[in-house]
Amino acid sequence: DFLALEQIPVWAPSGQPTGNTLHPPNEALNPKISLFRGDITKLEIDGIVNAANKTLLGGGGVDGSIHRGAGPLLKKECATLGGCETGQAKITGAYGLPAKHVIHTVGPIAQGPVGERERDGLRSCYRACLDVALEHRLRTVAFPCISTGVYGYPPDQAVDVALATVRQYLEEHHAQLDRVIFCVFLKSDEELYQERLPQYFPRD
Ligand code: ADP
Repeated sequence: DFLALEQIPVWAPSGQPTGNTLHPPNEALNPKISLFRGDITKLEIDGIVNAANKTLLGGGGVDGSIHRGAGPLLKKECATLGGCETGQAKITGAYGLPAKHVIHTVGPIAQGPVGERERDGLRSCYRACLDVALEHRLRTVAFPCISTGVYGYPPDQAVDVALATVRQYLEEHHAQLDRVIFCVFLKSDEELYQERLPQYFPRD
């Protein structure tokens, strides 16, 4: 029940208009984006991102699923990394998972209204993960909705940070990446991404 890249549809193949609002179109970017709803641990791609905590030793949510799927060797490797700061990212093997690597990042904790500090932290997570991916020559990367679970970042604000940051990163680095997959787990997040994607990855 693994999903290979070929089985994950792209956001907008050539010639498929999605409408434009905020950004000028860049047709080269749309076929590099996917929206996938499901379990990130099933993706048979170069790298899956883990929304971890600072210890990198495992936790609940997506972190728990990744560690369960990867098996105990993942925790063993993570234990050698000395933790991770908010907004940073560290890469490991993926062991029992179909992906080649796990990129662990630590999202900001949002208690109360989101400010510049939280926004910068979340932006930094997406950028740091992609930087680490490129350093290791990964060409296909999937992100969960970082910080929007137990870390409390409002999903309707996190989606804009995720999409804007990836759009900007791809403008600078798209030749080095084949696909960035937004892996949503909740129906409500799928709807949010479907609503906002055309603003960041327009066709015309
Ligand atoms: P955080 O601590 O950064 O908030 P969580 O794991 O609590 O991380 O939640 C982040 C997002 O990951 C939430 O949208 C949650 O629904 C989602 N999620 C949970 N399990 C999985 C999974 N197996 N695959 C993809 N996303 C998942």
